[in-house]
Order: sequence, then structure tokens, then C-alpha cells
Amino acid sequence: MSAPSPDRPIGHDRSDWLADAGPAAAGEGSLLPSELEARALVDLLPAIVYVSDTGVEGRWHYISSGAEAILGFSPQEWMADPALWARQVHEQDRDHVFGREENLAEPGTPDEYRMRHRDGHTVWVRDEAALLPDAQGRVRWHGVMLDITDRKLAEAELERSAAQQAAVARLGERALEGAEVTQLMHHALAEAARILGVGVGAVFEHSGDRHTLALRAGLGLPRSFDCDSCPLEQLPDGIARQIDSREGSWGMLWLAMPAEDRWATADADFVQALANILADAIQQRGTEDHIRYQALHDPLTDLPNRTLFLDRLAHALSRPNAQIAVALLDIDNFKLVNDSLGHSAGDELLRKVAPRLTDALRPGDTIARLGGDEFVVLLEQIADEQSAARVAERIVAAFEVPFELTAGEHFAKASLGIAIARSEDEQQPAALIRDADAAMYQAKARGRGRFEVFDGAMRARAVKRLSVENDLRRALERQELRVAYQPIVSLHDGSIAAVEALLRWQHPTRGLLAPGEFIPVAEESGLIESIGRWVLQSACAQAAEWHAVGRSEHPLGIAVNLSARQFTQRDLEKTVLDALASSGIDPGSLCLEITESVLLEEPDGVSETISRIAAHGVRFVLDDFGTGYSSLAYLGRLPIDGLKVDRSFVDTLGTSSRSRAITTAIVRMAQALSIEVIAEGVETEDQLELVRELGCELAQGFYYHRPVAAEALDDLLAAPVPPSARLSAA
Ligand code: C2E
Ligand code: CA
Ligand code: CA
Repeated sequence: MSAPSPDRPIGHDRSDWLADAGPAAAGEGSLLPSELEARALVDLLPAIVYVSDTGVEGRWHYISSGAEAILGFSPQEWMADPALWARQVHEQDRDHVFGREENLAEPGTPDEYRMRHRDGHTVWVRDEAALLPDAQGRVRWHGVMLDITDRKLAEAELERSAAQQAAVARLGERALEGAEVTQLMHHALAEAARILGVGVGAVFEHSGDRHTLALRAGLGLPRSFDCDSCPLEQLPDGIARQIDSREGSWGMLWLAMPAEDRWATADADFVQALANILADAIQQRGTEDHIRYQALHDPLTDLPNRTLFLDRLAHALSRPNAQIAVALLDIDNFKLVNDSLGHSAGDELLRKVAPRLTDALRPGDTIARLGGDEFVVLLEQIADEQSAARVAERIVAAFEVPFELTAGEHFAKASLGIAIARSEDEQQPAALIRDADAAMYQAKARGRGRFEVFDGAMRARAVKRLSVENDLRRALERQELRVAYQPIVSLHDGSIAAVEALLRWQHPTRGLLAPGEFIPVAEESGLIESIGRWVLQSACAQAAEWHAVGRSEHPLGIAVNLSARQFTQRDLEKTVLDALASSGIDPGSLCLEITESVLLEEPDGVSETISRIAAHGVRFVLDDFGTGYSSLAYLGRLPIDGLKVDRSFVDTLGTSSRSRAITTAIVRMAQALSIEVIAEGVETEDQLELVRELGCELAQGFYYHRPVAAEALDDLLAAPVPPSARLSAA
């Protein structure tokens, strides 16, 4: 029953045929049906046609049989029970329907509301009625109710699906915008609950082991349901249905549905669509986390890497009133492990060192691997130097127990350098690490397996080193570098078999500097690469000049020293070949002097580089032999043509039987391997006799010649030395 609509004004005469007007009204002509005919026709309509009094419990005067078809009650039942309509109006629609009825208000629109069918199911009706007076002038409802259930359901369906599509699109958008995954989960759950009208739900994510679920977002869950790692069976009771996500891997979006309802396929698809977006977001986060983790961690030890460490260090330094320490750690003789036990053993050692270090630290400290065998520790909130030293002691002590490697037990030691800074110092992270590095070198120099704290003297040295470095950068372009040459003499006939090129620096203010004063700086700064290239070029060019005027049968050999650092240079082979090509000298007359540290401390590929260069005919000599590890393994493995017995042995040959024994052994071994032996630092006639007795073929030292400028040797090398002169020299 509804308020009158504008096109159905009260008293409109065309509506009279529906009223219970007497036959008089219908009897005027044959154009109008009789009442009986009219009723029969009306009963055929798929609608409820009625006449009733106004009011919620107004009496029914007429109701067509459509009422039974649509609502299950016969016209007789309606007529007998004025309260029937009010009872059957759907509970949720009563307020507004009854309100309209009582006020007879809201003119115009037909009303649409829900009624209960006799069997309980909901029927949507569209009720359209006009208030018309009867013959007695009493106003009654004359109305039609249509069953619009199908249309209403279709509409609701459309609305829901539009809302669902919008919700999926919104969630997808937020995911694309990179919203945080937990927020996406909350959002998805809220949307699903709102659109599906569900009050209880949750989003779970699988734990790492995939056996338990962790609650990420919850809605209407009981207080007791607080699960961090919840086995599936523990989901709360009273939940009729659940929809879980895409198969397996990430977790589930789970909604509790009231028992009497059923999930429509479309609803299930909707939840699935939300779940898929969450799954993608989790996967994406996983990839990003993984990439971020990899970018900031060392894959071998899983420790933070240099980037992450520098970041933490910068943070620590930026905190007000912070006092921190940086401890740089280097495993002693690590290269030896790699070379003797293999790289996998080296890796294994590094992997085992990492947890030892971690254990020696306090929980808040950061330990990182800088690369190679270098680790670095950040100690935050260090009270004083002593507490930093205590940690360093613990770290050194952590190496007392041998490491269990697959290859067997291995004793390793570590040297540490510590630098301390307060935030007021405004130290740069890189500078702090450099200080720690200087202290670490000091620890190595003082005997390894210990630590040193960076101090004023080291700072002074560092400052000096820096100024040397700055000057050295300009030395090449200002042509301040020189090469001195020192003859290497044959002990058979006293002839000059070769000369060794020795670098000098004509410093503008400090005078002529020996290589000991600047080569270490050149090596550390990398300047040695260009300087070394220049020495090679100059020495080869100089040798070519001597070859042009020389009269000896064998071309004069030219020996050039190479630093370990030069082997990290990719194009060392090319540098050597270039020097040979531009000078035109025979590769066989070039001899490269390397120390064992080249083989011990420098990275992989050194042996290959040496072999490649040697393949061109260039010779190699191991310099300072006897001072390092004198690892005989190298001699067999590498194309080494000669050994230079270190000056310290030659120096003590006359006084130390140990020196004699070692030198004898070196010479015997070299002879067995057909390797040349050169005695260096021969200063006296006695020493010369001794090395000759031991079987050395070549000697070099102040006894014969000091290193001198090339011109000083020109005459000596151009003229053949008379045999007598040679003998007297020998
Ligand atoms: P080294 O290769 O062992 O060179 C021999 C050093 O011993 C030279 O010192 C030489 O002057 C010195 N010497 C020669 N005979 C005697 C002697 O009878 N008694 C004493 N007491 N000393 C003698 P120098 O020229 O100062 O070179 C020092 C080191 O600098 C060299 O040791 C070498 O390792 C390095 N060096 C020199 N030139 C170069 C270069 O061009 N490149 C590289 N990478 N290193 C170089
Ligand atoms: Ca040398
Ligand atoms: Ca030497």
C-alpha cells in the first residue's frame, strides 16, 4: 500500500472498475466487463490486486488470487486476518513501510520492500496504490503489488559484483603503489568483510618452515585468538566456511561465513582475487627483501658487507655524544691457506671465523666482512680505550682454538687495528677505517696475532704518508723520477751479465729519495701501476741503448722489480709487452724480480699472469729469497729462472753458521732445479769468496758497483772488460 502517485490522482474515474462498486457502475454498456469477468481477468494477473482500508492493520476488502501465488496465503486468509500483512512485512523493512502507512505520507513514489512468503523466504514486492473514495466516500487503498524478487536479486548481484571489482582494483592499485604488505592485508580483509557482510576473518602468512601460520590481520577474532605461529587446526571454532588462498605458498585469507549462508561462486572468486594480489605482494616483497639483503650482505659468511657497515658506521657517528671504536681484522697468512689447502678450505675458514667473531662481541655490535680475509667490527658506546681493547683481546683469544676444516685442524691468527672516535670529532667513516687499517698494519709489523690501537704517532705517519702521496702524484708528470742501475756480475769471468733497475725520486725539497721512502705509498695508493709502467719503459729503452753499443756475445740483461700490487693490474702482460716492443729488446734479456709476497698476498691469477708473461720469453727471479716463506712449492710450479739470496744472509755468512746452512741449502736446491742463484748485497771481498765457495754464479753489491745513473755505466758497458780486470774485480 502506497501513497498516491501523481499519475494516479485520488478519485480518478478510470480506477473505478477496480473498486467494489455495485453493478450500477459496470452496467452502463457492454464496453465494461461485468464484475465477475473483471475479477476473473484480474486473477490471471501475475500480481496482487487489492482494495483495503488504510492503516497498518487495515481491513482487506478485496485481494486477487495472485496473493496466494506470490506470498502463499489465499485471498480468504487475507480477508479474514487484517494483521496478516503487517506480520509478513520483512522485519528489516517494517520501520519505513509502516511509517509511510501511518502517515499516509510521501506522495509520489511506489514503494519497494521485502515480505516473507508463507514458507519464510523473502519476496521483494513493488507496491503501488492510490487512495480512492468508494460510493460512500470512504477513502481506501486501491493497489497493485508486483513480485520483483528476481529483479532485486539481479540488481544486488550487479551492485555486489561492481563493488567487488572496485575493491579488487583498489587493492591492486595500492599493491602497485608499493604499499606495505601488512597494510594490504588489513585493507583486503576489511574490504572482503564489508562487501560480503562477514564479521569474522583473518589473513595468515606461512612461517618460514611452512608448517605454521602467523596472523597478519584479524577481524572480530576472539581475544584468546592471538597467534604468532598458529597451526591450521587451531583456527577458532564456530566458523562454518573458509576460503583459502591460492595454493599453498604464502598463507590464507580466511573469512567466517554464517552457517545458513552459502558462498556464491562469484564471492569465492572475489576473495580469491584479493588473495592473489596479497600473494603477489608477498612474493614481490620476498624478491625485494632478497635483493636488498644480497646487496648488503656477504654471500660467503652472511655477515653485513662493506656498504651496510659504512652505513651503520655513519649512523653511529651521527648520534650525539657517541663514542665508538672500529676494529679492523685481518687473518694472518690467509693466502697460505688458499695456496696450500685450496680455495674451498680458505672459504671454509672464513665461514668458521665469522661465528667466532660474532660470539666474541656484544649483542649490539656490528661485524662485517670487507672482502678477502678482512673483517671489521663496529663497537658502539665504547666507554674508553680499555673497553675497546678488552673486546680486541677477546677477538684475538677467539683464535686460540684451532678451526676444524674438512682438510683437518687449522690454527689461524688474526691481527687487529683499532681506531676510536667520538661524534664531536666529526670523523668520516672512511677515515676511521683507514686509521684502523694503519693500526692493523702496525699489529702485523709487530708480530701478528695481536692488536694495536691507532695513536698519535700513527696519525703523524699517516699524515706524512698522505703528503708523500700528494707529491708522488705529481712526480711522474714533473719528471722527478729516475732509474739507477746496479750491475750484476758473473762470478765466472767478472763480466757484467745484467743490471738491475732501481728507482729513485729526485724530490724538489727533500732531495734524492730511495725507494723505501715512497714505494710503500705508491703501492698503497695504486700509483705504483703508472710508476711501474714508466720504470719498465725506461729500463727497456736504456737496455736497448746499451745493446746497440755493447760488444759482449750475450746481450746485457736488464732486471726490473715488480710489486705485488702491479699484479692486480689487469694489463700487466700488455705493459710488459709494450715496453719490449717499443724498445725492441729481446724478451729473453728482460728479467722481472718478484718477491714471495707477490705469490702470498695477492689475489688469484698471479701464477697465470706470470706464466703468460714467461711464455713470451721473459725471465722471472725470486727476490729477497730466504726472508719470506721460501715456499719451495712455488719453485716447482712457476716458471722461475733464478733466486736472489737475500742481503741479510750474505751479510752474516762469515759469522752465522745458520746463514751458511740456509744459503748452502738454497744453492743446492736451485742447482737441482737448474735455477740460477744471485747473491745480493756483496760488500766485501770475504763475502764474495764465501758466496763463490757456496756455488753462486752471480753477485751484486757495493763491492762491485753501487747503483748509479745510466751514463755512469755507459763506458763500462760499451767496452769489453779485459780478463785481468775481471779477475781483479772478482
Ligand atoms: P731490492 O730489489 O732488493 O734491491 C736491492 C737493494 O739493495 C737496492 O736498494 C740496492 O741499492 C741495495 N744494495 C745493493 N747492493 C748493496 C750492498 O752491497 N749493500 C747494501 N746495504 N745495499 C745494497 P734500493 O735501491 O734502495 O731499493 C730498495 C728496494 O726498493 C728494492 O729492493 C726493491 O724492492 C724496491 N725497488 C727499487 N726500485 C723499484 C722499482 O722500480 N719498482 C719496484 N716495485 N720496487 C723497486
Ligand atoms: Ca730487486
Ligand atoms: Ca733483494
